[in-house]
Amino acid sequence: MIDRLKQIKLLTVEKIAELTDFDSLNDLKVKTLGRKGEITMLLRGLKDLIGEERVEAGKVANEIKNTLENLIDRKTIELKTKELEMKLKDERIDISLPGLPLQVGRKHPISMVTEQIKDIFIGMGFSVAEGPEIESDYYNFEALNVPRDHPARDMQDTFYISEEILLRTHTSPVQVRTMERLAPQIPVKIIIPGKVYRKDDDATHSPMFNQVEGLLIDERITFANLKGTLMLFAQKIFGEEVRVRYRPSFFPFTEPSAEMDISCVHCQGQGCRVCSHTGWLEILGAGMVNPRVLQYGGYDPEKVTGFAFGMGIERIAMLKYGINDLRLFFDNDKRFLTQF
Ligand SMILES: [Zn+2]
Repeated sequence: MIDRLKQIKLLTVEKIAELTDFDSLNDLKVKTLGRKGEITMLLRGLKDLIGEERVEAGKVANEIKNTLENLIDRKTIELKTKELEMKLKDERIDISLPGLPLQVGRKHPISMVTEQIKDIFIGMGFSVAEGPEIESDYYNFEALNVPRDHPARDMQDTFYISEEILLRTHTSPVQVRTMERLAPQIPVKIIIPGKVYRKDDDATHSPMFNQVEGLLIDERITFANLKGTLMLFAQKIFGEEVRVRYRPSFFPFTEPSAEMDISCVHCQGQGCRVCSHTGWLEILGAGMVNPRVLQYGGYDPEKVTGFAFGMGIERIAMLKYGINDLRLFFDNDKRFLTQF
């Protein structure tokens, strides 16, 4: 029996050395040391032996069993290490490779220009007021001296939600709302940036666009204050060398009213395609607040006067950046938007 045990040991040791995978190692373990393994079966035969021989065989069998168990354990660790090494080799990451570029968001050019305009007026002591985009006919038209049969309504055709409720065509309703809130407090010194809606759609008009309006009400406010304020604004946004001019105009909510032009920022007033060879660009409408609008807002036109102005933010951005199609702002084409 001892000879047989030693023979099994030799063969098994050889096999373990040759093995390269877990499954075969496990098979070998079961075949030799398992419940029905060769060594286990042989050990069952011990009970047929007697005396010294039995003791000796038992001792040898246990030694061999221990030796094989140790060898198998060591082989297991060896195979595991090898497997881990292979895995690491496969999954090796080259940290010197350049990473995938992340798309970083940025501000929309309209937001940038809006912030710039806000900064300029805040610097002159104005504060920012806001109001609803869904507005009543009263605030959008009537309180601004545009009654139902007024032809000025045609220029500002909009989207009606009901007979009385509409999408605001300008930010002017916020002027009335603010006056109502503050009257008879003075001064009122606000700018109102925000989205407005009109039934327009072409290269220079969009059904939704952004406006910023300004309103100043105080004692002894004159057209000179309006000119001074807007001149400073034009210089801050288009540069010190810019010149301005006023042309008489009509708005129901101001009297007198004017359009302000700036000297063309592309040709410095020499005349080019952008300014239709006139050397001037129209940028905003303004005027002295109509006494009736002051009354609607709760102010006494005998005691206070005021000026108001309004401009399209897209128009300012188009002139500032030399963009010729308004719709580019709303296409969400990243190639366009990342240029600013
Ligand atoms: Zn020009």
